[in-house]
Amino acid sequence: MTSCIFCQIIEGSIPSAKIYEDEHVYAFMDIMPVTKGHVLLIPKKHVENIYDFTEEDAANFFARAPKVANALKDYFKPAGLNLLQNNGAPAGQTVFHYHLHFIPRYDETDGFDLSTWQTKQNEWTPDQIQELATNIRTSLEA
Ligand code: AMP
Ligand code: ZN
Repeated sequence: MTSCIFCQIIEGSIPSAKIYEDEHVYAFMDIMPVTKGHVLLIPKKHVENIYDFTEEDAANFFARAPKVANALKDYFKPAGLNLLQNNGAPAGQTVFHYHLHFIPRYDETDGFDLSTWQTKQNEWTPDQIQELATNIRTSLEA
């Protein structure tokens, strides 16, 4: 038996509050919601993080994201919606089966606080940022 908790949810050996399932994805309510309607969308094929997707698996997975977003929009009528996902423990990943968080937003006091996300725009000059882009582009084209 797999030790992955999200694989066990897909198999049905751990209960979940499912909202959607098809051949490629499974969507369910987060057990520790940060706002009302917090949902996780996961691929049925076990991948640990964004780096592990093939293009085909990613296409099958992300094609479902608007369907889930629209279901939450229609049901909860939130003022906004954050999509978030963490790769690696330093980024906040605690379950190592890829998952995309859907976090409906109601107002600034809805309990989900992104205010610590502060720009460091003065740490790099525009030329340095251009150089970073050039280097990344070169490695992507290699
Ligand atoms: P992350 O920190 O991005 O890895 O998020 C993991 C998420 O999985 C957290 O928001 C948890 O509340 C959620 N979670 C963990 N176990 C379960 C479970 N059995 N059912 C639903 N959500 C879960
Ligand atoms: Zn898994």
